[in-house]
Amino acid sequence: MAKIAINIATGSLQQEEIIVGIDLGTTNSLVAIIHPETKQPVALKEYDGGSASGDESPLVPSLVYFDPASNAVVGNRAKPFLLSEPERTIFSAKRLMGKSYNDLKNKGSFFSYKIMDDGTESLVKVQVGEKFYSPVDLSGYILKELKTRAEHILKTPVTKTVITVPAYFNDAQRQATRDAGRLAGLDVLRIINEPTAASLSYGFGLNKEENKTIAVYDLGGGTFDISILRITAGIFEVLSTNGDTYLGGDDMDQAIVSYWKEQAAAPWANDAAMQQALRLKAEEAKRHLSSNELFTGEINGHQLELSLDQFNNLVSPLLEKTINSCTAALKDAELTKADIDEVVLVGGSTRVPLVKKTVGDFFGSHVNDSVNPDEVVALGAAIQADILAGNNKDLLLLDITPLSLGIETAGGLMDVLIPRNAKIPQKAARQYTTQIDGQPGMRISVFQGERDLVKDNRKLAEFNLSNIPGMPAGMPKVEVSFLINADGILTVSAKELRSGVEQAIEVKPQYGLSDTDVEKMLLESITHAKDDIATRALVEARTEGEQLLKTTERFLQKNATQLSQEELLSTAAAMQALQLALTMEDKDLIHKKVEELNDISRPYAERVMDQAVAGAMKGKAI
Ligand code: ADP
Ligand code: MG
Repeated sequence: MAKIAINIATGSLQQEEIIVGIDLGTTNSLVAIIHPETKQPVALKEYDGGSASGDESPLVPSLVYFDPASNAVVGNRAKPFLLSEPERTIFSAKRLMGKSYNDLKNKGSFFSYKIMDDGTESLVKVQVGEKFYSPVDLSGYILKELKTRAEHILKTPVTKTVITVPAYFNDAQRQATRDAGRLAGLDVLRIINEPTAASLSYGFGLNKEENKTIAVYDLGGGTFDISILRITAGIFEVLSTNGDTYLGGDDMDQAIVSYWKEQAAAPWANDAAMQQALRLKAEEAKRHLSSNELFTGEINGHQLELSLDQFNNLVSPLLEKTINSCTAALKDAELTKADIDEVVLVGGSTRVPLVKKTVGDFFGSHVNDSVNPDEVVALGAAIQADILAGNNKDLLLLDITPLSLGIETAGGLMDVLIPRNAKIPQKAARQYTTQIDGQPGMRISVFQGERDLVKDNRKLAEFNLSNIPGMPAGMPKVEVSFLINADGILTVSAKELRSGVEQAIEVKPQYGLSDTDVEKMLLESITHAKDDIATRALVEARTEGEQLLKTTERFLQKNATQLSQEELLSTAAAMQALQLALTMEDKDLIHKKVEELNDISRPYAERVMDQAVAGAMKGKAI
């Protein structure tokens, strides 16, 4: 079988360009890459005023402070303003992504900044001073900061990225995340699910033969997600998700603050100005207790103490809630604990020893916690980015088809073999035939897109199936097969089944289009949906009319002697009328003329057939 490899890349990637992986978190965000030398994923660290000791950290707090001149200050540098200017300091922007005011109105007290109340279903905006910011703008600032950080460290422009989102994010939220990337000057090559990214970090899904069911337990700063994934031949499928969008490490801090207030029962602890200091101290205590038995500290000369046992008592009700979510997620996935092959811990709060123990006890299977839980998602995004960059040829492209794939059929119509959003690997086949007697070849043109006419879609490849033995029109059976393998490579083959003649071609579609192109094409397919339906109907009517003219002509050539003069004349008139109708943009007229010609030819066609059958019978000995 002859194979031709076609590289359809247009604005093709420079091999050297690094595609970064970004975890855009509710509390913290970070950027990671595959190190060009070690080939290992690394989170990019930089000192940004975050710690007094001058330590570098990969975590960029997901905070945006707007100064009086409306300049955005992002990350650790924005942190002090949470306390001093809460109405100008935006935290948890991720919670606003793709949301309307109505979605958020019950959570009003959670946000210390002003969310515009327009009482509608339109998307929310945040007001700071005189200015309004959309969640896309806000996330855009955070992404911009990460982009700058990466460029600073890598000393090269960074323009391409893979961004992670929670598995439960809907289309609007994913779209908002893409838009935020674009605002930051980043081409978002792929949006992937956080639990998928975390699993990739542990190497799950990288082996094509491996089938696994994975529970990803993600306890962050303010959110808890449990996702049950199934990996089959490198394809990640989210079986179920559950969780609590208002449960996380912050609640642990809050529980400690409440405990201390009860213990101290002193007026100073209720002082408004003390609250933030207490909260910060509580977080410090919590972190300390992840590797120690006792915390002691002080605020303004007031002694504070917390033992690990006390802390565990405080957080166990929170953990119980997460376990209830795990039970619910298993139920939704129609699985039991025994079906879970691997448990993956994600999120800074899973550092709490009791969390590890509780989750391990519940699932009773091996708990993966060796990869830094703050970084595990970003590292997985970097792994995915590297696969996309084509640097790691052995690995799978975990993907769905962004646009439909099909071939051109009569009249320039798009005949879809693999619809958009189909999982890969994927295969599909369909049979076609010739339109002309003795047609020796068939042109197979492969297209990508959602429009009904191939001229509005994008041509990926084209080849000829030649040497079809002479047969009447309609006789050859040409089976066209599409196969997208796990590497995202499409092979199109065509085989004439009667003769066995075959031909194939290889197409690499993944970089043919940027996401912007894909979005544009999808948008166009929606805008033009009505036109397309009308055009398709017209083209189909024309094709039918042309076919009928051809078969009638052929029939007349063979059987004219058996027809009466009147039949010949009326047939000629009906054919002429149909011919004329084909030149007009009126499918109903064509259908009418097709019907008329059929009505005229049916009686004599049946008569001729009967005679042929009778003739054949005569020769047979019964
Ligand atoms: P998100 O994914 O929601 O942005 P992260 O995964 O970055 O959040 O988790 C942030 C949370 O992790 C914070 O509540 C922080 O206090 C907590 N955290 C970080 N390190 C530790 C630690 N060593 N022990 C306990 N909690 C920690
Ligand atoms: Mg997270």
